[in-house]
Formats: sequence, C-alpha cells, structure tokens
Amino acid sequence: MNLNINNVVKQYEVQRALDDFTFSIQKVPSLVIVGPSGGGKSTLLRLFAGLELATSGEICINGQQIINDESWLKEYRKNVGVVFQSYNLFPHWTAMENIIMPLIKVHGYSVEQAKETCLHLLKKFDLLEHVDKIPAKLSGGQQQRIAIARALAINSELLLFDEPTSALDPQLTSGVLEMIVELKKEGTDILMVTHEMAFAKKAADYVVFIDQGKAIEHGTADDFFNHPKSSVLREFLSHTTI
Ligand code: ADP
Ligand code: MG
Repeated sequence: MNLNINNVVKQYEVQRALDDFTFSIQKVPSLVIVGPSGGGKSTLLRLFAGLELATSGEICINGQQIINDESWLKEYRKNVGVVFQSYNLFPHWTAMENIIMPLIKVHGYSVEQAKETCLHLLKKFDLLEHVDKIPAKLSGGQQQRIAIARALAINSELLLFDEPTSALDPQLTSGVLEMIVELKKEGTDILMVTHEMAFAKKAADYVVFIDQGKAIEHGTADDFFNHPKSSVLREFLSHTTI
C-alpha cells in the first residue's frame, strides 16, 4: 500500500487526537501501528476507513484522496474491510448471515453468489463447522475469525485492523494472528493497530509509533525494534515483552 498523510489534525471538542500528523510510505504490504493508549491510533484508523473526517490536512491511500463528500465516502467505505477489537457481529444472525447480508444488501450480490463466497471463505479458514451458529455459540477467537472473513468477503485489497486480538485470551489470539499472516502471504495489504509486539516483529514490513497525536518514529521492523532512536519509543519498548 501507499499512504500519504499530510498535516492531519483531528480535533474532538477539547481533545486533539491527531496533531499535525504527517507520515508517508510507498509499496509497504503490511504496516503495524503501535503506541500508548490514547495516542490517536484508533482515530487514525477511522480516518483511513472513511468513518470520520479529519478536521484539516490530507489523507491519500493508494493514490486516492479521502474527500469530504457523503456520496463519495459511502462508495469508498464499501470497499474497505475493517476489523475492530469487539467483533461487531450481529448477535441474532448466524455466521453465514453475518457474512452474506452485507454482500446482498450493500454490494448487490444475489443470495446464491453471497452464499458461495461465504462458504468458500469459511472452508478456506477452517470455519465451515460454524456456518449456522450464532455468535453466542462461538468463542471470541472464532467470532473474530468470522468477522475477518466478513471483512475479506468484499474482496478488499486493504484490510484495516484495530487491536483485533486485545479482547482475546492468549490461546485464542494465535488463531486470529495466524489467519492474518495467511492473508498477508496471499497478497492482501494489511494495516493493523496492535499491542502484539511479537506479531509486529514477525509480520510487519514497516512499523510506526504514535504518541500524543504524532508519528514519533517509524521504520522497518528490524530498525524499529532493534535500533529505536527516540527515548519515548525506547521507553515504550522496554515495557513490552517480545
Ligand atoms: P488510541 O486508539 O491510540 O488509544 P484514540 O484514537 O482512541 O487513541 O484516542 C485519541 C484521543 O482522542 C484520546 O484522548 C481520546 O480520548 C480522544 N477521542 C477519541 N475519540 C473521541 C471522540 N469520539 N470524542 C472525543 N474524544 C475522543
Ligand atoms: Mg484504540
């Protein structure tokens, strides 16, 4: 993916979540965003997803500038897959319904096409046995994998993840991370906020550290973890286990 973020400010009433944020990358398949809580990571992800607009500044993803136009945003949002910490599955729908309903209602698939896409994905990720279960009958890890399959179903070339494993027990986390590594191998671009440093070290092509609304430091995973320059990043890494 290519990203160009120029002087982005996001102001919430009294809180400045992003403060003259500037960052760019070219041809990076997987970008991991790390940083302390409240630093602006989720805000940035929501701007990338077109769910909110910047107060000022410019965001370009893969050459496409995000613009303040409701009908443009509606179209843009359709093609960006987003996975949040809380899986956001509809509780009264089965796994299949959760995946096919957006395809039918938002993307104009026929019921047959949508089911075919859904079954293909569930089979591929070893989730077929859960097809008719509602979320309450699934573990957190299984729910999150269904949520990822739903995000993938729209065939997005870029998937955004906001702490996809932070609500999961460690033993459920690995299944979700393995699924994300698999997607990366298949060529899906990934942009992920996470506290899983071991994952970041292994799967990130590039890492950016965000604190107090700014991109403090960024680099290849090797530079970032083995040769951190700023004292805030060194301090942050000293509190994480890899
Ligand atoms: P992170 O994901 O890094 O923990 P966030 O992007 O969620 O950080 O938040 C950055 C800052 O913006 C925090 O101080 C948070 O309280 C504030 N913030 C985020 N969303 C809103 C909102 N909708 N309204 C007001 N303040 C917000
Ligand atoms: Mg967050």
